[in-house]
Amino acid sequence: MPDCIFCKIAAGEAKARIVLEDEDLVAFLDLNPQAPTHVLIVPRKHIPSLSDAEPGDAAMLGRLQLAAGKIAAQLGVGDGFRLVVNNGRKAGQAVDHLHYHLLGGRRLQWPPG
Ligand code: 5GP
Ligand code: ZN
Repeated sequence: MPDCIFCKIAAGEAKARIVLEDEDLVAFLDLNPQAPTHVLIVPRKHIPSLSDAEPGDAAMLGRLQLAAGKIAAQLGVGDGFRLVVNNGRKAGQAVDHLHYHLLGGRRLQWPPG
């Protein structure tokens, strides 16, 4: 396994407050939330960034997005949430394991910073 915090969370080797998991993904609360609801949705497969995803990942990535809608509804933010991927250092990516940020529970500004 790569030395990767999100792989460790997915494997149950590091603690996180998990809100959903299935064969493709694990979703857990962000340690440093940027909104009242801030969930990270990560594939079990170690993909460093969205730029590294391959055509064979398409169905799995689609299921991640469907899970985001489901989680948002479960957490009561289905009527207004944002799904964000920071891709690369210039975009603010700090953890090199693909993850979707699900943000909600407050008014979100546009454009983002
Ligand atoms: P990025 O900047 O890579 O898009 O987002 C990484 C996110 O992971 C940040 O929002 C950060 O708070 C979160 N994070 C980093 N390490 C951990 C951890 O060990 N546990 C949890 N729950 N979140 C983490
Ligand atoms: Zn990983």
